[in-house]
Amino acid sequence: MQGNKLLTDDKSIRQAVMVEQIKMLIAQSPTGIVMGFLLASFIALVFGELVPGRFVFAWWCIISTFFFCQYLMYLTFTKQRADQVNHRRWYYMVLAAAAISGLCWGVGLTLMLREAPPQFHIFLIILLISLAAAGITMAIRTPVYYTFAACILMPVITWLAVQEEIIKFILGMFLIIFMVAMWLFAYQVNRALFTSLRLQLENQSLANSLKQSNARLQVLNEELTQLSATDSLTQVANRRYFDNRILSEFSRASREHTALSIIMIDVDFFKVYNDKLGHIAGDECLRQVALCIRNSLKRPTDLVARFGGEEFVVLLPSTAPEGALSLAEEIRENVESINIEHPDSKASKYVTISLGVTGGYPSRDYTKEMMLKKADEALYNAKADGRNRVHYEPVANRPIQRQA
Ligand code: GH3
Ligand code: MG
Ligand code: MG
Repeated sequence: MQGNKLLTDDKSIRQAVMVEQIKMLIAQSPTGIVMGFLLASFIALVFGELVPGRFVFAWWCIISTFFFCQYLMYLTFTKQRADQVNHRRWYYMVLAAAAISGLCWGVGLTLMLREAPPQFHIFLIILLISLAAAGITMAIRTPVYYTFAACILMPVITWLAVQEEIIKFILGMFLIIFMVAMWLFAYQVNRALFTSLRLQLENQSLANSLKQSNARLQVLNEELTQLSATDSLTQVANRRYFDNRILSEFSRASREHTALSIIMIDVDFFKVYNDKLGHIAGDECLRQVALCIRNSLKRPTDLVARFGGEEFVVLLPSTAPEGALSLAEEIRENVESINIEHPDSKASKYVTISLGVTGGYPSRDYTKEMMLKKADEALYNAKADGRNRVHYEPVANRPIQRQA
């Protein structure tokens, strides 16, 4: 079947059906070759005695060579890569093969008919009729069958017509009617097959287009989720995402009995910075600070979000307050060392931040609200102490051991 192609119009559907028909025609040729070869050998054995043996042998050689070529054609087709196959060329080759095969049988058996004793005539005619009927499998593509049936029956019809015997003439007429009836039958078989192939291909095409739409939708959905979770100015997570994440991290920490720490960050003297250098410069400064905080985080589970205005928050799952404190100090140093000049800061020549840290193991005393409150208190103390520093506020009276 047609890979992942989308069949959008009638022409492309017809084209796809034709390709399938040719594939089916070629796929069935090995059976035809084996049956044909066995039958030709049987006829050669029987009629080798009744008609001049050399003629029968020559016919057997010709038809066997044809079968061999047909087999090579089948092998070539199956070895080609699907996208390299020129289906129109193969169609003409199949059509030519049907004509040659029909002529080999039709002309060969008619010539034997001429030479064979009269009691064998009816046997040969029945054989030709049976071959024309057996070829109905070629109705997959009507012109192929029309050609085969005509090539197989026309020689014997012509011979019967010129015999000047009324009975043979009537037999010839009967064969013409039979041939036309077979053509009509082939046409009907072909219509049914065509409709079923067409429906199958259309279904597959619809399924493919649905698959593609779903994939596109999924990408858009992911983009949308990403957008709705990102702060448009700083490109770090936004407050909404943080609010959801803190809930899930709190539940996880209580479930798994792991520590959860938080760092609240505020840019020092930022109002002055804005007033002095303007909002555009202020925005750029916030972007750089956000990027610097993000680059300071080490674990994929660590999260930085914009809490609001010039405030950021860092959430550190599976991290004890000792670790959070040393990371906060590192963030502070990193931000100061970007060296964004601040003309009117009382804390440094450069833009600095103050940080409030808290953390612990979730319990009845250590709730989400308590965590945020304690982090805020810590930040307040950092500010009150002169800014550009880290402050720690314990929860549930848990003492802290400063790391080296
Ligand atoms: P402190 O050191 O005590 O934190 O003083 P501060 O000036 O940083 O704090 P304050 O709360 O007085 O001012 C915060 C300023 O941050 C006010 C506002 O103009 C600025 N700000 C908040 N959000 C944005 C923003 O998105 N872009 C810009 N450019 N400025 C912002
Ligand atoms: Mg503030
Ligand atoms: Mg501030």
